[in-house]
Amino acid sequence: MSDQFGVVTPLLRMALRTEPDVFLMRQRGREVAAAVGLEHQDQVRLATALSEIGRYLLGVVPTPARSEVLFSVDAARAVLAVEVTTDLSGRQERQLSEVLAVGRLVDTFDVERRDPATVIRLTRRIPPAAGPLTPAQLEVVRGKLGSSVARTPLEEMAEQNEQLLAALEQARAQRDELARLNDELGETNRGVLALYTQLSEELDETNRGVVALHAELDDRSVQLWAVSEAKTRFLANASHELRAPVTAIIGLARLLVDPSSDPLTDEQRQQLELIRGSARDLLALVNDLLDLAKAESGTIEPAWSDIELRVVFGQLRATVAPLATRPEVELVVDDPEPPAVIRSDEILLTQILRNLLHNGLKFTSQGQVRMTAESDGSTWTLRVSDTGIGIPTELQERIFEEFYQVPGKSSGGTGLGLPYARRLVTILGGTLHVESRFGEGSAFVVQLPVRSET
Ligand code: ADP
Repeated sequence: MSDQFGVVTPLLRMALRTEPDVFLMRQRGREVAAAVGLEHQDQVRLATALSEIGRYLLGVVPTPARSEVLFSVDAARAVLAVEVTTDLSGRQERQLSEVLAVGRLVDTFDVERRDPATVIRLTRRIPPAAGPLTPAQLEVVRGKLGSSVARTPLEEMAEQNEQLLAALEQARAQRDELARLNDELGETNRGVLALYTQLSEELDETNRGVVALHAELDDRSVQLWAVSEAKTRFLANASHELRAPVTAIIGLARLLVDPSSDPLTDEQRQQLELIRGSARDLLALVNDLLDLAKAESGTIEPAWSDIELRVVFGQLRATVAPLATRPEVELVVDDPEPPAVIRSDEILLTQILRNLLHNGLKFTSQGQVRMTAESDGSTWTLRVSDTGIGIPTELQERIFEEFYQVPGKSSGGTGLGLPYARRLVTILGGTLHVESRFGEGSAFVVQLPVRSET
């Protein structure tokens, strides 16, 4: 025998005619299910589904003699099927599917018209644990079922009650287990909540710390700014106040040594020259200080214009050449390739480059001091290199600090030239850094945007 699912083996047939048959149908359902290896719960489910169907059919079918029940197995697919062939109207067929909650108890539940009858078909999968059902085994099952005695309705009712009690017991055990799990969940939740509370307290604590730290940092930077302001103001005021008396000392000393003044002894003349020299140094320092203070106070406003670099280079060549007094040192200023135009402040740019050229000449006893310029279209790189004493690597940033001079190499300067030059370069929107090898020479590199004005 075969159907749409494959080869099926009939196990048992029975007729559904009277009320006791409903009990029998239930009993047989359980027995067949047990015989093919369905689990206990599934046996009860199938039995319940069948007794529901039987009960319904007895109520609605006027000639119950027509209802036939067939239990069969599709061994290849491991499916137990029950077909109830009966006689229902179309309305009853629809009603059957709607009224009976049988579908939930089995894997499939179909009501199908196979004229002139109606076939109600239930299936349930046989679990793999039951093992494959061979024809021989199915024969045994069939034999067992054939010899099974029909119980009385009372016996079947007692069996049903027992199953109900077992189901209730199981439901109670499940409810207890659920309650236990709920308790556990509650416990875990409390733990998680406690952990969360602790973590958020710690986070709050940390946040408060960070906020306090920020406030302190803000305070510090305000203090720093105030200190730096005060320093700049002091430098500006002090140097300004010093300039007049120092200039006066230089003038007076010059007057005293002037041939038109009263004659002086050689000793006096020498001392006056010393006074004049020291006063000149002091004036240079005061002037440098004043420049730096001005640059730092942020009051320098560049006067932007398009500058011809060749013009600036030409002027520098002319004004710095007199400082190149050593015959062993050559001053070379390479004119940049035209067009060499930069948007900048001419006076500030000239000051920066003169300062660097001057340093180069001061610290070079042999070779050359050279200035070059090249542009990549967006940046001008102005380089003042020398073959002088060079600067030890570890001091190459320190020389940009105020008053710092490389020990043992005093040139009589103030130690303010480079910090001032760097400050000016920054004001012009660029950078100044040094590349140097101790004992071989240095290169001071100014990089400026071709158009830095904003
Ligand atoms: P100053 O030249 O008045 O001492 P700067 O600020 O211009 O002050 O320079 C700081 C120090 O950097 C110098 O004293 C010197 O030690 C070092 N330095 C500057 N330029 C050069 C150079 N071209 N070669 C070697 N050392 C230099």
